Amino acid sequence: MFSLIKGHTNTIELLKGALDNPEGVPPVYLFAGVSGVGKRLVAFQTARYVNCTGTKMLDCGCKSCTIAKAKNHPGIITYAVPKRGVFSVGMARNLKSESDKRPFIGKYKVFIIEGFHKATGEASNALLKLLEEPPSYCIIILLTDDLDRTMDTILSRCFSLNFFGVDSKYITEFLISNLSIESKKAGNIAKLAGGSFSKAMEFLSADRHTSRKILFEMLLRLSYTTDKTILSTCTYFKENFNIHTVLEDILMFFLDVKKFQMGIRELTDDSFDVEALSLMFTPTSLDSALGLLFYTGGSDLENKEELFLSSFFLDVRGIMRKEYLFGVFV
Ligand SMILES: [Zn+2]
Repeated sequence: MFSLIKGHTNTIELLKGALDNPEGVPPVYLFAGVSGVGKRLVAFQTARYVNCTGTKMLDCGCKSCTIAKAKNHPGIITYAVPKRGVFSVGMARNLKSESDKRPFIGKYKVFIIEGFHKATGEASNALLKLLEEPPSYCIIILLTDDLDRTMDTILSRCFSLNFFGVDSKYITEFLISNLSIESKKAGNIAKLAGGSFSKAMEFLSADRHTSRKILFEMLLRLSYTTDKTILSTCTYFKENFNIHTVLEDILMFFLDVKKFQMGIRELTDDSFDVEALSLMFTPTSLDSALGLLFYTGGSDLENKEELFLSSFFLDVRGIMRKEYLFGVFV
């Protein structure tokens, strides 16, 4: 059942040990690891595994596996937190009342909660009793991108498994064999994706929104991004996008941050967490960064775009680090 999952060998072994435990399957799990690393897939396969009445292999055709594969299994219930939402107390209460009803297909009812790092304190508290003593037919799998945001009282009730970034060689192989990506490109994308399959897929779909997302994350982490990552990201931008549009997007983000810092909430693109980005810049460092953008923006960039973009990021990073150094943030 788990042969589909690349990497995570030790984690899967621990999980299988728990699921095959003759003394009983632990009822509550916490899968922790960065987004896109495969937690959801493992959770789904776990749900299939515990309800399988056949071979427990990937290609099993038992009744339970067949409806699970068709994503139609009434005993596999997923709670997905909306992108900019939270796992609310209402969702927790719904889960509780669903857990009171016995499964009508299969041995277990499996609840998968995606994005549990977005659970409110109230929602976490509402789940404590259920996690302590779930009905014998329930299995609950919490998925978190950020372990630090999970309450200790929750952690102590879970069988926790860590999902580390997948080795880039697995992502490279996956891109080559499943998506026929040329090997050099596959290797580059795998490195940039930092162990996340879903990030790798994002890097492949080179549309404007994707480029913005990559750019936004880069700006958010810029003060501690290494030279190597800055340079490879710039190469990626050059190979997949027009650098002039990337510069326009940088300008847009910076102007949104400026508006945000001035208390204006009508932003050009509010699908990004501009508030988080605004915390990375003081008004002074933001003005310096904007100055750099305008200063070189007017000159002839022909054939020098990649160079300009990388030196721009390096300079802005320098400005941000200098402020940390002089204690502006203290
Ligand atoms: Zn089966």
